[in-house]
Amino acid sequence: MNIYERGGTKNSPPKCSYCRNPNHKARECDQAPKDWEYWKNKQVPPYAPAVNWWTQPRYWGEWYTKCAKTMDSIERYQAQQALPKAKRKATSRSCGFCGSKHHTRRNCDKMQDFLADCYTANANWRRKAYEVLVQKHGIYVGSAVKVKKTSTYSTGVQDAVALVTDVNFDKLNLFCANARWGDYSQRLLVAVNVNGHRQMLQFYNNHYHRTTSPTPLEQEFETVFKDTGHGQYNFNGVVTNGSTPLDPSWVTDYRDAFDWLVKKRSYDRLKEEGIVKTVEHWKNVS
Ligand SMILES: [Zn+2]
Ligand SMILES: [Zn+2]
Repeated sequence: MNIYERGGTKNSPPKCSYCRNPNHKARECDQAPKDWEYWKNKQVPPYAPAVNWWTQPRYWGEWYTKCAKTMDSIERYQAQQALPKAKRKATSRSCGFCGSKHHTRRNCDKMQDFLADCYTANANWRRKAYEVLVQKHGIYVGSAVKVKKTSTYSTGVQDAVALVTDVNFDKLNLFCANARWGDYSQRLLVAVNVNGHRQMLQFYNNHYHRTTSPTPLEQEFETVFKDTGHGQYNFNGVVTNGSTPLDPSWVTDYRDAFDWLVKKRSYDRLKEEGIVKTVEHWKNVS
């Protein structure tokens, strides 16, 4: 089988249909323009062309026609090469975000509008998160908090004071408010030091009881963070709250993630995955 023996559909080497040179195609021929200098003045070129019989006067017409056609394709090719790359393919492209055939992501109004909504929604969410987390409950690095051991197996001392050592502020974003598990949701992670041991803090007494009897604290966290991680120690109030004022840049940071997202996913997919709904909701929360 030919195709198998050739090892696939490898292109045969280019061969000029004008001068028969195997190292270029007719559109890049350097012999045709030299010959055309003569033909355009109705003179027969003095050089012997690759096609032997063209030298015979009765085939001069054929030689002339072939040279003229080759000149056409050379000019077309050069004009095409002069265009910017994007323009050469523009007709066959469509917008990966909204699906329109008339533009690409680069100039998609729908994408720009959605991105602006994402920025607004995320800023609104971050402002709210700061309010609940830092201002109200004193969760920030260096803060002392009361914790309660949640293990049902332990009957020993339950309460302790812990020092907050780490909060994943840089990762927290709008999609912490998205309950759907998967590509988007982000968990709130608060690490504390309890008697010399690093522990992850939890903000619900028990995940199973969450829906039946949520405390006001739980309800508050539920609004902003759908998933606050799992740990043995439950947050049980702040000891001292000397929270620093909000750094305004934190609220508007994290834009890169949304810039990236709209380049990777289509609007329809984001809609299907509940992302559009979350953005629509939070862009109106003040
Ligand atoms: Zn050639
Ligand atoms: Zn578009």
